[in-house]
Amino acid sequence: MANEKKGKGGEVEGSSNVLKDEPLTKPSALRVTPFVALVLGVTLLAAGLLLTAGAAAQNHQQQRTLQRDAAQVSASFSSYFERARSLDLLLAHDDAFTLTSDGIVDREAANLALAYLQVLYPNAIGEACLIDEHGREIARVTHGVPALESELAMNEAQNAFFFPTLALNPGEVYQAPPYVSMDTGHWVISNSTWIRLDDGSRLIVHFEVSLASFAEYVVTSAPNTHVAVVDGDGRIILQDRIALPPPMDMANMADLANMANSFPITDWSETLRTVSGTAGITTTGGHPAGFRTVGRTVGNANDWMVVEWSTASASLVPMWAGIAVTGLGIVLLAIALVVLRRQQATLRRAARLDHLTGLGNRKALEEALSIALEAARSGDDSVAVLTLDLDGFKQVNDTLGHDKGDLVLREIARRLYANVFEYDTAARMGGDEFAVVLRNLHDVDDVTAVAHRLRDALTRPIEIDGKPRFIGVSIGAAAHPQHGRSTAELLRSADAAMYRAKRDREGVRLYDSGTVVGVSALGLAAELLTAIDNDLLEMVFQPEISLSTGAIVGVEALARWDRPGCGQVPPVEFIALAEETGLIRSLTSLTLRLALDEALSWRKLGVHVPVSVNLSGRVVADRTFPVEVAALLGERGLGADALVLEITETALIHDRDRAVEVLEKLRAAGVRVELDDFGSGYASFGLLQDLPLDGLKIDRTLVVDNTAGGPGLLAATIENAQYRGLKVVAEGVEDAATLDRVRELGCDTAQGYHVGRPMSSDAVRALLRGATSGVTLESVGPSAAVNLP
Ligand code: C2E
Ligand code: CA
Ligand code: CA
Repeated sequence: MANEKKGKGGEVEGSSNVLKDEPLTKPSALRVTPFVALVLGVTLLAAGLLLTAGAAAQNHQQQRTLQRDAAQVSASFSSYFERARSLDLLLAHDDAFTLTSDGIVDREAANLALAYLQVLYPNAIGEACLIDEHGREIARVTHGVPALESELAMNEAQNAFFFPTLALNPGEVYQAPPYVSMDTGHWVISNSTWIRLDDGSRLIVHFEVSLASFAEYVVTSAPNTHVAVVDGDGRIILQDRIALPPPMDMANMADLANMANSFPITDWSETLRTVSGTAGITTTGGHPAGFRTVGRTVGNANDWMVVEWSTASASLVPMWAGIAVTGLGIVLLAIALVVLRRQQATLRRAARLDHLTGLGNRKALEEALSIALEAARSGDDSVAVLTLDLDGFKQVNDTLGHDKGDLVLREIARRLYANVFEYDTAARMGGDEFAVVLRNLHDVDDVTAVAHRLRDALTRPIEIDGKPRFIGVSIGAAAHPQHGRSTAELLRSADAAMYRAKRDREGVRLYDSGTVVGVSALGLAAELLTAIDNDLLEMVFQPEISLSTGAIVGVEALARWDRPGCGQVPPVEFIALAEETGLIRSLTSLTLRLALDEALSWRKLGVHVPVSVNLSGRVVADRTFPVEVAALLGERGLGADALVLEITETALIHDRDRAVEVLEKLRAAGVRVELDDFGSGYASFGLLQDLPLDGLKIDRTLVVDNTAGGPGLLAATIENAQYRGLKVVAEGVEDAATLDRVRELGCDTAQGYHVGRPMSSDAVRALLRGATSGVTLESVGPSAAVNLP
């Protein structure tokens, strides 16, 4: 034993518990939950995507609106600036700003012109003035009131607008950045241009516009929307119609000193300064904002940008909610899929489980075997299969009940599991059949070693109701690749070996292609089983005549199997197959029934001729057979003398005592028993010793034996048999000469093609009817026999 296997439990009686008590299928509510989650997940996902898309569209719409509004405000500013410039240029060309004949500008006329400007822009223009190129004010109007000559400033040259104006080309207007007007104290921007007088000197025409007046351009289209004008330095010039900052108290030095810090700079103006392009979308303070730069012409020092933003959310359902719902849907879907996968795995496992024993079932075993075979084919593994069938399990079930039967199966399963390795697979194939896939074997001998060890473990007594019971087990083994290459082949080989082991009571048997029914035969056996189950076998009948009177004294029933699509199968073949596969018992029951039905029909014709039925050796060893025979006779109201049973020598080889016991019972009941085919095998009278027999049928080989000792042996046989009081039948009589010879030798009856071929039941009935009307076969001659092949 190269590889003595130790089981999982370490010894024969392992303790590993394979019986799983937990339910394998969950309650239906739990099974439904993942589907609910799946549906909910899909719904949420779809809803979430819709909400997200809706929110995105609404956001987009809002951004477009903001951008459009910003562009509108920006355009208002541009056109305002444009108009202010035009106005300044127009003003500059007023006749008032020319030298009089005195060589000076007429202040009265200039004041009137400047004041008129204010009429054009009431509330917007706080101050307008005329300055010479040295910075001396020539005329000024503040809020419509002309300044007295004494009030005019002597030097405006330090004012922000002054020098940039003179640096421009003629006809250009300088628009100064915001500053606090010296005259009004308001934040203003100014427009100024210069004109040349006749004497060659230059005058600056200048007016201031308060920032507050720009507020009216800052219009928004929706509530919760804000708009601001920010300059290139990030200073907020205007916000929501409020000019920033408030007017200054020109007398308050502290106020003036702080002037530089007057414009607020918000944290979002930084963002705005970094945006590129003249228009676009950005965010300010977490809100979406549209921006647009205000058009700038030459001389405009104001680098402004309009920003519009909304604090209202664009959509009813915020974007994050849509995304959250989508996320929730995805999570639910993922959970549902994971749970479903798990459930599927559980169901798959359950589908491969034998629920009674907790072992795998046939499906599991076949899968394990095919996996093992794959590994074996790539040379990594060696594989063998054992099939196990309990002996005497039916009795336990029948006599002690199914509960106890289940107990036995569970215990056997437990022992089986405990005695194989982790990588081996034990399974219950159904009923009281088990199988094991063995892996990692060193050689074929190991297979039988393991099988014997398993058998030892399984056949130990099982305690039932406090009493030890013995359950036998037959094991068939088949190894890859010697006994089969595929899952099906190996299982069939192991099964065939197991049948053999059971039949011969060997316990364990390794498949042997020479002695065991091959793979194709097992397929044939399945067909034969169907044929038997459906009464598809037929009987033909061969007469036996008395050699003294010529009368028909018996008819032998011979089985025929017309295999669908394949024609007649020779009886020697299918009888042997039935014996190999254990079908012979049911086959015999069928032939017995058909033969007795036929015998009954003869009785009804008034012919009292017994029918002979052939018995296989296995049936002769069956103690229940005489009971069955009695029952079948009784059912038909036939006496035991209606039946003759033919047995062969081989029936006596295995369990002679048992065979004798059965035959005695049959004879005691009145059934005749004849030994068939005598002389074909041992032809030993020693074998006949004490056999309860009524007749002897001498085989054709001996009847026609013309070799040296042949005729002598035949004569001696006949003499010996008659000495024992046996009726002697000569078989295989094919011609008249043989018939004469056997009659001379003292045979009682004869059978054979010359006497009559095996024939249909109709033919044999016709024959028998003729016989009652006094016609004997001999007188009619062999031509009367209905010849069947
Ligand atoms: P067997 O019991 O010895 O049956 C006689 C066989 O010899 C029959 O073959 C028969 O057709 C054939 N035979 C009859 N007269 C002659 C002859 O003159 N010359 C030659 N050469 N052969 C002759 P069959 O029907 O093919 O049956 C073969 C064997 O199959 C039978 O041998 C019997 O052992 C078995 N058998 C047939 N029917 C049954 C059955 O219902 N049950 C069992 N257990 N065995 C059966
Ligand atoms: Ca026979
Ligand atoms: Ca025979």
